[in-house]
Amino acid sequence: MTRNTRHAPVERPAPLGFQKHDHEVCVAQVLAATEARCAKEGLRLTPVRRKVLELLLQEHRALGAYAILDMLREAGFGSQPPVAYRALDFLAEHGFVHKIERLNAFVACVHPDEAHSPAFMICRICDSVAETHSAPAKGALGAVAREAGFRIERTVVEAEGVCPDCADQAAS
Ligand SMILES: [Zn+2]
Ligand SMILES: [Zn+2]
Ligand SMILES: [Zn+2]
Repeated sequence: MTRNTRHAPVERPAPLGFQKHDHEVCVAQVLAATEARCAKEGLRLTPVRRKVLELLLQEHRALGAYAILDMLREAGFGSQPPVAYRALDFLAEHGFVHKIERLNAFVACVHPDEAHSPAFMICRICDSVAETHSAPAKGALGAVAREAGFRIERTVVEAEGVCPDCADQAAS
C-alpha cells in the first residue's frame, strides 16, 4: 500500500495505548463488537461501511476522508466522494469511528461496545493515535463547571506529543 510508505515498515506492531499488542486479535475483536452492536441496535453495516471501518483498523492511525476515498477506490468501491462521506457519517454518528479535529481525520474506535468520552494521544511525527477514556465530569474542568452550574455533556480531549516509537527521532 503506497499510502503508508512515509511511515516505518508496516510489520512494525501498531500502538494501542502505544503498547505492543496482537493487532490481528485487536481488529477481530473490534469488528465483532461492532457487528454485535449493529445487530442489537438494528444498524446496517453495509459492505462499504464495513470496508471503511476495516481500512481505519489497519493501523491505529488517523486517516483523512480523501485517503479513505483513495483506498475505497483501490478496493473497488467506486470513486464518488459521497460514498466515503456517508459511510464515515454513519460510523461517526454511532461511535464506531471518532473524528480527530486536530488532524481533520478519523480513527476507528477501539471499544465500540462501551459508551465513553474518548481522549486521544496523537503522535505529531507518525500520526498514530491512542485512544483512552476521559471522565468529563471529574478533574479540574468538572469542578469549575459544577461551580458555574454548567453540565458537561461531551468533551474533546486531544493531546499532541511524541509516541514511544518516535521518541528517538524526536530527541535527535
Ligand atoms: Zn490493534
Ligand atoms: Zn472510542
Ligand atoms: Zn509516532
